Amino acid sequence: MTEHTTAAHRSRPQVRPKAEGWTQATDAGGRPLLQFQSPRRTQPETHLADLTLAERKAKLVELGYPAFRATQLSTHYFEHYTSDPDEMTDLPASARHDIVEKMLPPLLTEVRRLRTDKGETIKFLWRLFDGALVESVLMRYPGRVTLCVSSQAGCGMNCPFCATGQAGLTRNLSTAEIVDQVVAANRAIANGELGGLRKDGGFDSPRVTNIVFMGMGEPLANYKRLMNAVRRMVAPAPEGLGMSARHITVSTVGLVPAIRKLADEDLPLTFALSLHAPDDTLRDELIPVNDHWKVDEALDAARYYFEKTGRRVSIEYALIKDMNDHAWRADLLAEKLNARGRGWVHVNPIPLNPTPGSIWTSSEPEVTNEFIRRLEAAGIPTTLRDTRGKEIDGACGQLAAAE
Ligand code: SAH
Repeated sequence: MTEHTTAAHRSRPQVRPKAEGWTQATDAGGRPLLQFQSPRRTQPETHLADLTLAERKAKLVELGYPAFRATQLSTHYFEHYTSDPDEMTDLPASARHDIVEKMLPPLLTEVRRLRTDKGETIKFLWRLFDGALVESVLMRYPGRVTLCVSSQAGCGMNCPFCATGQAGLTRNLSTAEIVDQVVAANRAIANGELGGLRKDGGFDSPRVTNIVFMGMGEPLANYKRLMNAVRRMVAPAPEGLGMSARHITVSTVGLVPAIRKLADEDLPLTFALSLHAPDDTLRDELIPVNDHWKVDEALDAARYYFEKTGRRVSIEYALIKDMNDHAWRADLLAEKLNARGRGWVHVNPIPLNPTPGSIWTSSEPEVTNEFIRRLEAAGIPTTLRDTRGKEIDGACGQLAAAE
């Protein structure tokens, strides 16, 4: 094939985004409906992971127990991953069940789990106390274990290519419902349920080392609980999980005021912006929230995040055949990023996880390569992201929690 006839160089059509096989809810003006507020729903009972260690102590004292029980309980939950009173032999037998009932109400009930990649990827489907369903995906890589967590049941951002958005927003998850996904994953790893055992019988990582808020939901639309969950993750044991903030990635469609607030938190979290198009014409249709905050505003906020935290920002870009993968878009993206400085950002293209037979198809490999080549030629570090768990609908944007 000569250069001119390759898919990357042919002049290619412009496919416009539209929902296929489902109808996008619209607002009074006919635009895709955005739900920023969670419907008013009861939250689960307060759980130890909703509280700081000081708050746990106060609550136990209120319940008539000594404050130091809070530390014991926290150790069971955050270090031994247990909520089973029978395992808590350092608590008086007469009080164990009462304390656990009041401090560790069950939050996640496992409905199903699917395994792939030789058992090194597990997708969990959880039922919450009110019947809402959420998913998380656990992935072992050499030297690290990543958990993709959900921050909401459903999502109100209504992106036409994303499985989660199709049913709208059910409700925000509580802080403890977010944290408990990590504890449940750690428990599964400790029980030897995640593949990837080394030849000597040990594991590279005996617990989750990296969190990505790339499961169901828009984390920045559930800001307060997101931040509390992050605080539990980074608090040293036994108050929390003792994880590194740098290994926690918050990903957003681009809620600009919340991005700026996150930047001001003084936490070295990793930040990812789901851009998917460098031009407003396309992004208006691909990411409905672009109606509120345009590409340039989202990029300015991302740049502000870098300035405040010194953390290099990730730009997420799902490559969709003939929709957003044109060479000129790679060039425009590089131009907009370089206009805001050098060394502050990198791009993570990811082949779209396709819906078969629809306009939502991943770009051809040569088009993908050309897109990356152009970004790199412009000096933008670029890494193609993997699509782990595709076979079990556990890959990016495939989490729909259908039973
Ligand atoms: N609401 C947040 C986090 C959840 S989605 C956000 O949008 O960033 C996590 C990532 O998966 C986002 O970058 C999202 O755009 C991407 N995604 C959604 N559907 C996808 C699909 N079908 N293929 C590939 N990535 C997808």
